[in-house]
Amino acid sequence: MSHDVILKVENLTKHFPAGARRKNKLVKAVDGISFDLRAGETIGLVGESGCGKTTAGRTILKLNEPTSGRLIFEGQDITDFKPGKMRTLRSQMQIIFQDPYTALNPRQTIGKIISAPFEIQGIDPQGGLKNAVQSLMERVGLNPEHYNRYPHEFSGGQRQRIGIARAIALKPRFIIADEPVSALDVSIQAQVINLLEDLQTEDKISMVFIAHNLSVVQHISDRVAVMYLGKIMEIGETNALYATPHHPYTKALLSAVPQPDPRTEKTRERIILSGDLPSPMNPPSGCVFNTRCWKASDKCRSDVPELLQVAQSLVACHFPE
Ligand code: ATP
Repeated sequence: MSHDVILKVENLTKHFPAGARRKNKLVKAVDGISFDLRAGETIGLVGESGCGKTTAGRTILKLNEPTSGRLIFEGQDITDFKPGKMRTLRSQMQIIFQDPYTALNPRQTIGKIISAPFEIQGIDPQGGLKNAVQSLMERVGLNPEHYNRYPHEFSGGQRQRIGIARAIALKPRFIIADEPVSALDVSIQAQVINLLEDLQTEDKISMVFIAHNLSVVQHISDRVAVMYLGKIMEIGETNALYATPHHPYTKALLSAVPQPDPRTEKTRERIILSGDLPSPMNPPSGCVFNTRCWKASDKCRSDVPELLQVAQSLVACHFPE
């Protein structure tokens, strides 16, 4: 893996207006996240539902306008790029959605769907469009003869392959995969994950892989970032982070993962977090995790912890494990 940084996310925030009845309130969906993504690297983004993973992904691709912060893609500051300029960049930055059922237009043939990126960018591939689309279909494990079929004629796993073919059509440098296998049968998940991994290695694509399934994330990610209430609590190299979580929240999340080894599974201690996830409209002061943390002290209620190096990870905690 090369160490060239392909994407720099600096203090990125996305706040949404909370709606007509709460005029002055903001939903702090993403509240100051920073990380670098290296060429060919996969960062897994984990955290419980509502912590801001999808918003982070969409804001990085500028499908949401960032509220503040900076996005540097391949050395270019794209934070203020207007939609027109972003459209040209889209061939380089792609997204794969969670739900292959709703992400595909039911009235278009697969050939038409996978042709779209070429047509939008006005690219006439060598050997013709149909040829290019059929070789993409082959690459993702679809039968190229099914070019004229419609999405409903495919299974869930096949539909996700169509979504992947569309995403890789123009050889992007960077893909956000937002829960790409969560809607699929468990038996199909591994096949789609393996396909993504193979394509990524062959084309040296960098990826942010969003998922709540920690085992899937462990398998595919070089590094993992743990989010809670719009913030990154811990980020580190996958195996180190899974073996030695430093943030209490990471520890709690990982304690819920069943262990394949029956001996360690037998002694696994589950940490059940008390209370509910606070509202992102009204996040706790100091460390946002303090209301559910068994280690919280006055300092945690008043001072926001910075992401600092602890062993091999960066951890935002006053009292890391
Ligand atoms: P999940 O795993 O359930 O998809 P997530 O971690 O991806 O959750 P987000 O979907 O990013 O979380 O949501 C983060 C917070 O932002 C939630 O409280 C959500 O209700 C809120 N939110 C997301 N989109 C909007 C929007 N367009 N307007 C207002 N609030 C929003």
